[in-house]
Amino acid sequence: MDIYDLLIKNGTLIDPESNTMIHGNVGINECKIAIITKENICGKREIDAQGYIVCPGFIDIHGHIDGHRECGELSVFQGVTTTIGGNCGFSPEDLKKFFVEQDKKGFPINQAQFIGHFNLRNNVGLTNPYIAATNFQIKCMENIERKLFEEGAIGLSFGLEYAPGASFEEVIALSSIAAKYKKLVAIHTRLDGPDDIDSLKEAVKIAEITGASVQISHFVYQYGTGIMTEALEIVDDARKNGLNVWVDSGMYTDFATSIGTSVFDEDHIKKFNWKLNDMLVSTGKYKGERLTEKLYKELRNNYKNETIVCFTGVEDEIYEVLLKDYVMLSSDIGPSPSGNRSEGHPQNAGTFPRFFRKMVREQKSISLIKAIEKCTLLPAKVLGLTSKGRLKEGLDADIVIFDIETISDKSDFLGKGKPDAKPEGIHYVIVNGTIVVENGDIIDEVLPGKPIIDK
Ligand SMILES: [Zn+2]
Repeated sequence: MDIYDLLIKNGTLIDPESNTMIHGNVGINECKIAIITKENICGKREIDAQGYIVCPGFIDIHGHIDGHRECGELSVFQGVTTTIGGNCGFSPEDLKKFFVEQDKKGFPINQAQFIGHFNLRNNVGLTNPYIAATNFQIKCMENIERKLFEEGAIGLSFGLEYAPGASFEEVIALSSIAAKYKKLVAIHTRLDGPDDIDSLKEAVKIAEITGASVQISHFVYQYGTGIMTEALEIVDDARKNGLNVWVDSGMYTDFATSIGTSVFDEDHIKKFNWKLNDMLVSTGKYKGERLTEKLYKELRNNYKNETIVCFTGVEDEIYEVLLKDYVMLSSDIGPSPSGNRSEGHPQNAGTFPRFFRKMVREQKSISLIKAIEKCTLLPAKVLGLTSKGRLKEGLDADIVIFDIETISDKSDFLGKGKPDAKPEGIHYVIVNGTIVVENGDIIDEVLPGKPIIDK
């Protein structure tokens, strides 16, 4: 009888691609799923998954981990085995070097990377986000973009709300290159007010003009302000017209970003009618404090990189968007400038278990298998990751084992709880055939995650 390196036995095995749920065993050899069977098999190491769900590891299509170890750990606790970094226009400076370093050092989970629009801008000496690129600069950016796609970037990301000066021509030119390379274009839309639906129409236009597959980032943070139904109708219509438009969205309405960005420019705050008292400093020296005029100025001048959480939005719209078939779950996870993982937004530790707790177990608004699909197969398909997102023989052994009866997020906003509190009910997480989370705890210095070089 064959003996497998690792055996997961007696689990409820869910594969979103074949849409099946069976009671059985999974045998893993090295980094691949070797067998899925109802027969009894043996393993050098065995995990008893009786009563637990066994499914593909979660793919977090929108994050800012970019090699930050503390975020990799917070992700793997949630069952995430692959994260997509370089979002909202911000990506590591040298992609090739990043892949080499991550591969050498190891990482808790797999990492694929978008090319950030700001990275391209910086490369041509354009550091002011309030001005448009010249035609010459656009040509130069296109060349760098081609090179980065050839080096393995999985797509292109824009953070248009952070780049008010970026012209439509610039965005179209760069998106056209992505379309030629069949790479995804992720767009944090050019939001300019709490009911700015035009920013969404712009993103749809980009798909229409360039033919690129477009993914609209953290949708609830953009349009969960009372205009969700209208916003979703625009995406529905675009898709009916044959456009490749996708959406990712998270489990909170309260977004987080750096105080130094254009999002917190005085006139931007005024347009949205955000109150300083609704903004919580979430990292650094002043963490836990609400903004005042004085603190706002102090942070804008001296602590530009610290994270602010802005309490805003309509809670029901979190769930409204996630019910759509084309919407994937995403965390928007980001590191604290100090690298301290106990700082920041509870999304960093809570998104995936919160989704299963709220929508599958409590609201019963989505089936377990559909929920798994949104965290696995759907992002794998949109990104073209053919060996992930499915529970299938021969594919990568990225697997999460959890208890649907107990899976829960425990993280909360500073002042209410701990942003990095570990979730419950996620018992094992396996990355490339190696156990990283065992009985809900991380095994120290086990770093089987690989960079995903998409060529
Ligand atoms: Zn963003």
